[in-house]
Amino acid sequence: MGKLRYPFLNLGTVNYKFAPLLKDAAARVIDSGRYVGGSENESFEQELAVFTGTEYAVGVSNGLDALRLIFKAYIEIGRLAPGDEIIVPSNTYIASVLAVTDCGLIPIFVEPDSRTLNMDTAKLADAISAKTKAILTVHLYGRPCYDEQLAAVATRNGLLIVEDNAQAIGADARYKSKKGTTRTGSLGNAAAYSFYPTKNLGALGDAGAVTTDDVELAMTVRALANYGCDRRYHNIYEGYNCRLDPIQAAFLRVKLPYLKEETSHRRTLAEIYNSSIANPYVIKPKLEAGCVWHQYVLLCETRDGLATYLKNNGVGTDVNYPVPPHLQPCYKRFSNLSLPIAESLATRVLSIPVSSCTSPDDARAIAEIVNAYCE
Ligand SMILES: *Cc1c(COP(=O)(O)O)cnc(C)c1O
Repeated sequence: MGKLRYPFLNLGTVNYKFAPLLKDAAARVIDSGRYVGGSENESFEQELAVFTGTEYAVGVSNGLDALRLIFKAYIEIGRLAPGDEIIVPSNTYIASVLAVTDCGLIPIFVEPDSRTLNMDTAKLADAISAKTKAILTVHLYGRPCYDEQLAAVATRNGLLIVEDNAQAIGADARYKSKKGTTRTGSLGNAAAYSFYPTKNLGALGDAGAVTTDDVELAMTVRALANYGCDRRYHNIYEGYNCRLDPIQAAFLRVKLPYLKEETSHRRTLAEIYNSSIANPYVIKPKLEAGCVWHQYVLLCETRDGLATYLKNNGVGTDVNYPVPPHLQPCYKRFSNLSLPIAESLATRVLSIPVSSCTSPDDARAIAEIVNAYCE
């Protein structure tokens, strides 16, 4: 197979423009002699907290661990207990669900709105039982999933709201929090971030973070991620080793100031696609000002045919995601659930290029190619 003219994503290209700064940052860490914790972590945490609009940020090993640590910390501080039910979207990346089940919590799946592909907040009330203790809202594909209805259901039922912000750093909801923020990650009780290399803010390896305004939660997450100790050789929890590497913190500090530019580039591409793609076989995503377009996801009844056609015409694509979590082999216990919207989406979604590797001219060319597809 030859090289695609319009690759889906090329991480070397993404990081090439930062290479001199990244090399300086790596040299800083190497010369510091401090390879676990230290000032790079502290500075990155402060910068992330300011960017998000939260009191605290805690750097951790990756996005899945960020979610697990939030739930484990809520269990340690008595806000959750194993066996509690947690509302999760049926259309999400499996990590959201893995974090819930790993902590002995029970996922209750809520189907997506077929226009936004995010959890349909109108269906939340019916999913609540006496055992429900939290909502894990996922801002999928970079589109905020947080509105008045979600906040009202949580308040009425005394539920915690945890945001899976892995795909949506820098996004703004139309909802405004009590403290006046709109940014995803600042809206609920706690939020998890992934800096996996393909995410909008990508490290050069695995990395993640937790943000919150709750000092007790922040301190518990930090302790749990560091063997459960609150001070050296004093273990108050049966903890883990889930710390953020300072070399990744240093890389993230290089890239965070450019995230605004990255986001506006993604928005430009999404606007070009939305104004240029017109094909009766293809449904475009809904444009919303606050989206950060981690993925630009088309819907097509003949998705595999469209993907093959695009590849043959030099356009790389991806499927996010081909199998919903409840149908994964590891979750046989959920395979009898009826979640037809998520199941149907898994056969129809197709992500087209929307990263910094794609130029506005590329996007116009890709739109033309999509428009020439017929079944
Ligand atoms: C990437 C991702 C995660 C997991 O993050 P990792 O850093 O890969 O562990 C969790 N949830 C969502 C929605 C993601 O996209």
